[in-house]
Amino acid sequence: MSAESCVFCKIVAGTLPADIILDTEDLLVIKDINPQAPIHYLILPKKHIETLLDLNPMDTLLASELLMITQRLANKAGIKSFRLVANNGKEANQRVPHLHLHFVAGSKMTGF
Ligand code: AMP
Ligand code: ZN
Repeated sequence: MSAESCVFCKIVAGTLPADIILDTEDLLVIKDINPQAPIHYLILPKKHIETLLDLNPMDTLLASELLMITQRLANKAGIKSFRLVANNGKEANQRVPHLHLHFVAGSKMTGF
């Protein structure tokens, strides 16, 4: 999928609305439109990268930012427990081909 037709690129560009939780130089955190828990955010890089397998060594800082921003999100929400999920690739049910981490919290989680 090209960046032009990508839903998350449209949100980054401001041409599609979203509930923005955090906006940094490299990342956007938005509320998931179809939340699976009381807190369900999507952490995404502003640049169009389809999957984790498309990251390159130049993205090392970006990759660490994707994880480090969870501290700000947890602080902001006043929580210490959350689940991070990356559906990576079609077989893993990645529906939006723009790299993102699901940040899920606010209810007792079981399994996995
Ligand atoms: P995934 O299956 O990991 O690709 O998940 C994509 C997620 O994006 C799903 O949980 C959707 O509910 C969410 N989503 C799709 N479109 C939007 C949108 N316009 N705004 C916010 N979340 C969205
Ligand atoms: Zn994109």
